[in-house]
Amino acid sequence: MRLDVLFDLRQPIGSVTTAVVDEKQVRLYDLQLETLRGSLTLLRTDRGLLVSLDGDVNMHDRCARCLIEIDNDIGIAFEEEFVPTTDANTGARVNVQLDDDAFRIGADFVLDLREALREYLLMAKPLKPLCRADCEGLCPSCGANLNEAYCVCPPDGDARWGVLAALRDRQAKGS
Ligand SMILES: [Zn+2]
Ligand SMILES: [Zn+2]
Repeated sequence: MRLDVLFDLRQPIGSVTTAVVDEKQVRLYDLQLETLRGSLTLLRTDRGLLVSLDGDVNMHDRCARCLIEIDNDIGIAFEEEFVPTTDANTGARVNVQLDDDAFRIGADFVLDLREALREYLLMAKPLKPLCRADCEGLCPSCGANLNEAYCVCPPDGDARWGVLAALRDRQAKGS
């Protein structure tokens, strides 16, 4: 997700460039995307480029309950202004007052979307992805996947087992 935008920065204010995004195996620092598809629009502003991305991401994740690997499809859309550190026509340093979190385009005029993509993806992706809504999770004692098998562990702190145990003791004494 790195684009040479020297040409775009040399266009008059209001110029628009659009591009189709269709990438596989995109690495965003700690996040690995299987696919990234969508459309990208670059609008030349007075300060830089207003970048809009509207797309879909597919990434592997783990079910928050049973930990099996699942496929996550996540819609992602954002609009951010990227401001160059260097004037694309004159090569002079650009002095602008920016908020601390503004995205910059370096002196190589490469637009790097990875940081913005990562930030928006972390907001868009579910905190607790599930393999299915009614996933039973793992047995806390033996680790068995309860979607696939019943285990014989007594549930922790489940009072019913205490009652059963008492019943069994009574029957043992009575016979
Ligand atoms: Zn699950
Ligand atoms: Zn168990």
